[in-house]
Amino acid sequence: MTPPHELRLSGALDLAPAPERTPVHIPPRLGHFIDGAFVDGSDTFDTINPATGDVLAKVCAAGAEEVDAAVRAADRAFREVWGPMDGAARGKVLYRIARRMQERSRELAVLESMDNGKPIRESRDVDVPLAANHFFYYAGWADKLSYAVPGRTVRPLGVAAQVIPWNFPLLMMAWKLAPALAMGNTVVIKPAETTPLTARLLCEVFQEVGLPPGVVNVVNGAGATGGHLVGHPIPRKVAFTGSTGVGKRILASTAGSGKKVTLELGGKGANIVFADAALDQAVEGTINGIFFNQGHVCCAGSRLLLEESVAADFLGRLQRRMSTLRVGDPLDKNTDVGAINSERQLKVIQHYVDVGRNEGATVWQGSATALPKRGLFHLPTLLLDVDSTCTVAREEIFGPVLSVLTFRTPDEAIKKANDTEYGLSCGVWTEKTSKLFEVSHALNCGVVWANGYNLFDPASPFGGVRHSGFGREGGLAGLAPYLEVT
Ligand code: NAD
Repeated sequence: MTPPHELRLSGALDLAPAPERTPVHIPPRLGHFIDGAFVDGSDTFDTINPATGDVLAKVCAAGAEEVDAAVRAADRAFREVWGPMDGAARGKVLYRIARRMQERSRELAVLESMDNGKPIRESRDVDVPLAANHFFYYAGWADKLSYAVPGRTVRPLGVAAQVIPWNFPLLMMAWKLAPALAMGNTVVIKPAETTPLTARLLCEVFQEVGLPPGVVNVVNGAGATGGHLVGHPIPRKVAFTGSTGVGKRILASTAGSGKKVTLELGGKGANIVFADAALDQAVEGTINGIFFNQGHVCCAGSRLLLEESVAADFLGRLQRRMSTLRVGDPLDKNTDVGAINSERQLKVIQHYVDVGRNEGATVWQGSATALPKRGLFHLPTLLLDVDSTCTVAREEIFGPVLSVLTFRTPDEAIKKANDTEYGLSCGVWTEKTSKLFEVSHALNCGVVWANGYNLFDPASPFGGVRHSGFGREGGLAGLAPYLEVT
């Protein structure tokens, strides 16, 4: 007898290949995008698929000369085309970018999952739609800038130098580009060295929709290329998203230059669950807070603060739910937890799990699937019996690892949540609105989610305080870093 899994569907029930299996073209060699054209470079390094180890492309690293050419192209485009252009006309181009991104969304999603390792469900349903929505949102601002600062006149700054990380390559690019362009600035942007592919596809979109040459320029490379870019004398604006260490270096190197700087840096978010919360929803929120994108999220809820009276009950539910998570092939739409982006990051995560164990934490790991035999993967992990003094409760791990702490009173929860040098995000779970407001106001961070976690909207400002950086992206506040008020 034929086993059930070999039964063939026939006739009208034949299924087309899953959209996520859309073939994508990856050029074997990635140069830069300067003055509207793809140009080759010299030194190359590999970008790999972290789920397989396969080399996806050779990537050129821009030196000072290539960065200079990109900045000069941006400067020319600012003075001659984009700066003087009517806001409504700029808005039309941004709308066209958003529409074309939607049309090419399958390719963007597949490329993002191959290059970054994130599950296709996330790149398809979160990264790509949110990135397109950013262009839609800021296209709407382009002809309404006279209302941005009531009673005052606003002007663009000129060339913006932007540097982004690998955890949300396309989305971070959209967060940086859309407000800068809507305001009339031009841009040179550097993607992270491990995730350059969707930036390349977005440049094809720019060509297709007729974005004037030089308005957006992309230079590839690692830290040295980023250094050339932020240190170039022409850009009047530096926008950086990445680690706190590199952010501090950029702040020091730009001090006294007169450049406007915004920094979106690391985090150590606390997800605070009170005993009166809807516990199953809070379990889902906790999962979304830390295992979403393998925990490669600056605002991840990487500390779970549980009210002591429900801690055991909650942990039982959380562990049961974690045991259903599927770790594996990022291009399989059933995958919950994909690949870790790089070997370096995998080692960092493993190091912190060892540190947690050595400091007395109990390590618990669970998933529905075994770790794939090849590729860079890490099991969803709980570090139990952690207290605020432990390294794993203080330092950013940037992986699928959740440190669990307990508290007895709202005051204790607030103190523990604020007991970190970071200040990016927190979540508060309670049925009691008064408690929600009281606790949220006392939390020292830029973003608080109420009975939810990792929820984003282009109209809503996002950013941190303290060592998580300064400046906001998204919403009206996201325009401020890119304008001059006269
Ligand atoms: P990273 O700081 O190592 O690199 C970020 C980018 O900076 C990369 O493009 C890199 O090539 C470049 N870079 C490195 N050294 C540089 C230098 N000296 N000058 C200029 N550019 C340089 O960070 P990462 O490992 O790619 O990203 C992870 C970090 O980013 C985490 O700490 C995470 O929390 C943070 N992050 C923050 C936000 C936010 O909005 N706050 C969002 C995403 C990621």
